Amino acid sequence: MITKIKFTMKYCSLCGAGVDLVVPPGDHLERHVCLACGQIHYQNPKVVTGAIVEHQGQLLLCRRAIEPRYGLWTIPAGFMENGETTAEAALRETWEEAQARVALSGLYGLYSLPFASQVYVIYRGELVDDGKSPPFFPGPESLEVELVDPEEIPWEELAFSVVESALRHYCDKSNSGDLSIHEAVITSPRSSNRPGD
Ligand SMILES: [Zn+2]
Repeated sequence: MITKIKFTMKYCSLCGAGVDLVVPPGDHLERHVCLACGQIHYQNPKVVTGAIVEHQGQLLLCRRAIEPRYGLWTIPAGFMENGETTAEAALRETWEEAQARVALSGLYGLYSLPFASQVYVIYRGELVDDGKSPPFFPGPESLEVELVDPEEIPWEELAFSVVESALRHYCDKSNSGDLSIHEAVITSPRSSNRPGD
């Protein structure tokens, strides 16, 4: 089943003429098609990558300094840039948001968010602490960055339900030795702890 999402587009980004919403020949979904140059403007999901970063049994969490979800907690994650690999993007986001150098140890989870047309690719990694510089520090997108014990994860103050899903699974299986990839479908944007907020 495909979740219907309305993206609005009025003008062709190539030539500036108006666009129409039609099903192109051979296709099965409506696309914005330029009335002048014929360009078909496909709109597809965006990929978000991030990392669950561990250090001596604790996890690295960031408190967001930007909207959406200003002031709430998350793992380092963000949209991929063109030309990056998913792992490069996860490392870049971890650096930008937490100024943390991390050694990724593998893929942790894959999450479909059809309501947002997003896919989350979450890695697992270890903080690299050289003993000289601070191992982490809030980047411009974070109010604070902390290592927290799994028992002290602020479930009531997590920014996104996808982060809650990944962390709950992490806590449930952290002692089991299960290294299989966690796959889940996330159906709403907010943590279940904050209904309607
Ligand atoms: Zn055009």
